[in-house]
Amino acid sequence: MDTELDVLTRCEETHNIFKIVFRRQGEGWDAYRVLVPRAQPRPGAPEPGGGGQGTAALPIMQGAIGSDPAYKGCPFCHARSFYTCGTCGRLVCWDNRIEVVCPWCSAAAEVRGRITQLAGNRPTQGGPRPRPVGDPRPTPTRVAPSPERPQLPPPRR
Ligand SMILES: [Zn+2]
Ligand SMILES: [Zn+2]
Repeated sequence: MDTELDVLTRCEETHNIFKIVFRRQGEGWDAYRVLVPRAQPRPGAPEPGGGGQGTAALPIMQGAIGSDPAYKGCPFCHARSFYTCGTCGRLVCWDNRIEVVCPWCSAAAEVRGRITQLAGNRPTQGGPRPRPVGDPRPTPTRVAPSPERPQLPPPRR
């Protein structure tokens, strides 16, 4: 019985590729970390993850698909959620907008409902190799300076 599966995901914002690793949680599956490949495939290059074997052999996660509180979201745009495209069935990061355009197949759609089924890959199957997790301490999140976090001038006396 698989307890950990990863799913190839594409960032809607940047079209970059990463993997969300899910682990079995009771009756469902929770996203809890991501794997980021060292190099992004060039446009026009064969898509990663599609071994030409079809999808029949992929393990299917069933039940409530959610995310663990430890899940930090998309490594590129930091969207904390995700959706599966109704047209191509692929996973895409999601920032809770209702209207989306799938970065895999360019289908425009509205997000609704919940994910109850998702095809995964066993983490050892190709793609970026997960590093053994020896130390589960969360890495501190760097906060980049941004217009939303203005730096206030020192108070005048
Ligand atoms: Zn993203
Ligand atoms: Zn799609």
